[in-house]
Amino acid sequence: MKKQTRANNFKPAATTGKPAANTGKQDLSIFALPQQTGKKKSKAATRGKVAVIYTRVSTKEQAETNQSLETQLKHCRAYAERHGYEVVETFGGTYESAKSDERKEFKVMLDFVKKSRHNIGHIIVYSHDRFSRSGSSAIHIIDQLSQLGISVVAVTQPMDTMTSSGKLQQGIHLLFSQFDNDQRREKCVTGMEAKIRKGYLMGKAPIGYDQYKVNGEQVIKPNKTTGKLIRLAFQLKAEQGLSNTDIIKRLKAQGLSLYNQTLTKIFRNPFYCGLITHGLLEEGEVIEGRHEPLISRDLFLRVNGLQAQNAHGYTQVKEDEHLPLRHHIKCGSCNKPLTGYEMKKKGIHYYKCNTKGCCLNRNAGKMHELYQGLLKEYQIDPILLPQVQEMMGQVFKRLSQDHEQEEKRLKLQLTELKKKLDTLERRYAYGEIDREIFSKFSAELKAEMREIEVNLEKLSGPLSNHKMLLENGLKMMLNLSSSWGKADASKRRRLQALVFPEGVQYDREKEAYRTQRVNSFFGLASEISQKMGQKERGKSSGETDFSLLVARRGIEL
Ligand SMILES: [Zn+2]
Repeated sequence: MKKQTRANNFKPAATTGKPAANTGKQDLSIFALPQQTGKKKSKAATRGKVAVIYTRVSTKEQAETNQSLETQLKHCRAYAERHGYEVVETFGGTYESAKSDERKEFKVMLDFVKKSRHNIGHIIVYSHDRFSRSGSSAIHIIDQLSQLGISVVAVTQPMDTMTSSGKLQQGIHLLFSQFDNDQRREKCVTGMEAKIRKGYLMGKAPIGYDQYKVNGEQVIKPNKTTGKLIRLAFQLKAEQGLSNTDIIKRLKAQGLSLYNQTLTKIFRNPFYCGLITHGLLEEGEVIEGRHEPLISRDLFLRVNGLQAQNAHGYTQVKEDEHLPLRHHIKCGSCNKPLTGYEMKKKGIHYYKCNTKGCCLNRNAGKMHELYQGLLKEYQIDPILLPQVQEMMGQVFKRLSQDHEQEEKRLKLQLTELKKKLDTLERRYAYGEIDREIFSKFSAELKAEMREIEVNLEKLSGPLSNHKMLLENGLKMMLNLSSSWGKADASKRRRLQALVFPEGVQYDREKEAYRTQRVNSFFGLASEISQKMGQKERGKSSGETDFSLLVARRGIEL
């Protein structure tokens, strides 16, 4: 009974007549628009209120407990019901670390939407970052969809995507969710790198060591028995030249069983002589650890001298100086990261693909030149700097407003849920409901609250120092290409990773780079700069004109 009255409250328009049904709301926005977008509009209007729902979760944990997916689905369904959408299909159910799965499901959904005979007009998602986590490609997809008259509706960020300003706003949302992700990951990664550089081990200590915490601080100490045996293994190898099999036998007799593979790994791990290596450090870079070494460095080197044929050395630093793009460039044919080498006689460096039969082999100097050309495409024209800065400032302001709104909304939700939980507890205390019902609903409420808390946490942070970020970022973009050219190898690598976090591909037929993911800040700023440049030169045209979109929103240029 109660449910029914509630449902009715959501449809006040039903009593007043037709306007809210069908396309009434969209028609109003058409009136608000200048005429040049009218063409698209009529096409869009032919699609009705047929929709699909797409859900996506961001962590494995969420995927496994299914909490978030269910919540998303629930909200999406409720939204659809409230706004009179007819949902013909739902998609989703994978988490984003399972990248290929996610992409598959996303693709299946897109294909369905494009080809379905249901004439689908809308894709309903929980929020824009659920649609796709790669902002700029998502914008591209949304653009394509809108050409077909299909719009993406975010339940928690409702905006009219049929208007240009709505589209811009949506675009910014998408870019921002990616920007946000970048920031968070960067923060996390730099924090970790800093710790490693201070000599802390990230992860599990190898066999021979005990690892525990004292007052929250990590302590790593040699284990009295296994530590001694590991040291013995090194000594047997270096001083008596025993084979791994013989060493394993000796250790086993003293109570330590090891596989051959494990022993090989142990011999190659410089942790035992007090050093730390990590994937986040430069290749070949080692850091003085905070832990007590089990063996001397001399012993470590001697052991690795003995097994030089399979030792992965830690002495390649010099070579890297000339090959900063190693691993950053991927082969366009097989997608393997390129490696590099030096033709010793002539002192010339090359990049190459190691895949059998691929035969990609390029002069490093030429590849660097080409790379500088690529970076040039992301530079902004100094003349346009004040304008770009102004626009990006507006974008950031807009985003922080959105953040604030979202924060408010989430906090409100949280209070509501707390109230519900209170009521539930009270009713249970008074014996009005039994234990089973109480635990079922309180678990549900708590799960929902936890999720909101997680989302709230995500909102805090990255925007707080946006002014500095903006200024420094744009300054950097004025001479991206020459800064890279002048920098040393490790700076170059940092810059590369910042602009193209997933590296670039080299297309050998076109002799050009293909970019994969571009840092959204650089992407957006360079796009604005280009659009503005076109405008200056009088080439701007119609709908994709950024400045026009902004002017329409009342921002002076
Ligand atoms: Zn290849």
